[in-house]
Amino acid sequence: MRPRVESQAEQAGPRATIRVVDPLALLASRLPPDAFTIESVDLAEGSRDWWTLAMLRETRGDGASLPAAVVRPATTEDVATVLAWASETRTPVVARGGGSGVCGGVRPSAGWIVLDLSRMDRILDLDVESQVVHVEAGMNGERLEAELQANRLTLGHYPQSIAISTVGGWIAASSAGQASAGHGAIEDHLLGLTAVLAGGRIVRLRPVPRSASGPDLRRLLVGSEGTLAVVTDAWLGCSAPPPGYAWDAFGFPSFHAVMDGLRDVVRAHTGATFIRGYDQTDSALNFGSMGHAGGCAAIVGFASDLPGLEARRTAAAEAARSSGGTPLGEGYGHHWEQHRNDAVELYRRVMGPERLFGPGVAVDTMEVAGLWSGLRELEEGVRSALAAHTEAVGCHLSHVYPAGSSLYFTFLLRGTDDRTVEATYLAAWEDAVRACLEAGGTMTHHHGVGRLKAPFLEEELGREGFGMLRAIKDALDPAGVLNPGALLP
Ligand SMILES: Cc1cc2nc3c(=O)[nH]c(=O)nc-3n(C[C@H](O)[C@H](O)[C@H](O)COP(=O)(O)OP(=O)(O)OC[C@H]3O[C@@H](n4cnc5c(N)ncnc54)[C@H](O)[C@@H]3O)c2cc1C
Repeated sequence: MRPRVESQAEQAGPRATIRVVDPLALLASRLPPDAFTIESVDLAEGSRDWWTLAMLRETRGDGASLPAAVVRPATTEDVATVLAWASETRTPVVARGGGSGVCGGVRPSAGWIVLDLSRMDRILDLDVESQVVHVEAGMNGERLEAELQANRLTLGHYPQSIAISTVGGWIAASSAGQASAGHGAIEDHLLGLTAVLAGGRIVRLRPVPRSASGPDLRRLLVGSEGTLAVVTDAWLGCSAPPPGYAWDAFGFPSFHAVMDGLRDVVRAHTGATFIRGYDQTDSALNFGSMGHAGGCAAIVGFASDLPGLEARRTAAAEAARSSGGTPLGEGYGHHWEQHRNDAVELYRRVMGPERLFGPGVAVDTMEVAGLWSGLRELEEGVRSALAAHTEAVGCHLSHVYPAGSSLYFTFLLRGTDDRTVEATYLAAWEDAVRACLEAGGTMTHHHGVGRLKAPFLEEELGREGFGMLRAIKDALDPAGVLNPGALLP
């Protein structure tokens, strides 16, 4: 369905015609016919991401306000057309990839445009010699990985949401995959990109392995959440996939012992691809079905063709042992590998229309990060802030570095119904973010800020740091049309 360009024509006299042009119709007239929709089903789908609160409100029947239209561009030039029109008419635009964000990054108000990049899903080039793929931003993660594997390559970027997220969303939300110990996060793959700035100007940053030509503009867009530009394609570094993974697992007497053990494992430079460690609750959740006897568990996975594999595994086991880690066998890792993305479906069933745990129940995750020297304090602070509002809290180390680690909390809240649980949810987040910032951590390791955490960004970045970001935003998007309210409150 397309609106007409002239909504009304008025005869003002024999020589003058005043044409009242509907801005939406004007936009439609500048785009290919199949790029524009105002069908209600498309508007509803474009109106939210996987943010717990958005899903809760939808199933509760308090639908989000619908955008005026969803545009599905096929080219960078289509995106430029939309952003030129948006600045002209001062209409906000929200870029949308897979809509799998969990912080309300995609949440248009009435009258806004959703720029759905899902039609821009082609591999533009595969430079096999450099192991670099040039891919459009709307490419789905699982499909990209399948195409790379068919060419004996892997991106090595495996977020749990790989089946429901896109390349552009990974860049814009600063994504980290489960294999970050071996492959790094999205910024480590990002070698070049094309993006459209507010007003429709196109910026192309050539692919290079590294550059000292000023501040890294590619990185400026990592985590920018559609507020500084719309990414339309990217060059990503890949590698040869291993034939499989060799797994080790360790039981630890406490979660603090897991922290100490994995800190030493990551510092042993063993070349592990996966390093993850769980508290008692998350150990039971992840490994209970395979007969885990209780206590805390950690897994370490290596590419099975890694040179010196056995010596590396021995070094990791020794590092774990120094903190009380005892071997649990290879089964834990294989079990985790098989079930590593099950949470996507579970989350959909709990927060979607099925309401698996019944009305009044909400689940969410919070992933913070901090240095090893303050990690215990950070973990205890966030855990007790969440525990004051919730029925259950679990935690694991999902991304481990020589200097520190992420802490990934999963929590379950219960209200008397879907309305009362919302207040509890907001109070839990507020207290947990404050506890995190007080303990010196960052409030998000890889989910980003969205609308959920935007009110706390200034507290994390400090007045001057926040002022810098605000100045960049104002310079790049003076009309303020790129995803207002996300990232920057
Ligand atoms: C069950 C579950 C598990 C998850 N696991 C992980 C995980 O392991 N690791 C991880 O990093 N994340 C994870 N996430 C979060 C989410 O998948 C990531 O944030 C992902 O990067 C979002 O990609 P998307 O394409 O769905 O982006 P969207 O949700 O569509 O958008 C995210 C943000 O980026 C902006 N945006 C999207 N595309 C563009 C573009 N082309 N140009 C500019 N801005 C754009 C949007 O406006 C929005 O602000 C998980 C989510 C769920 C629901």
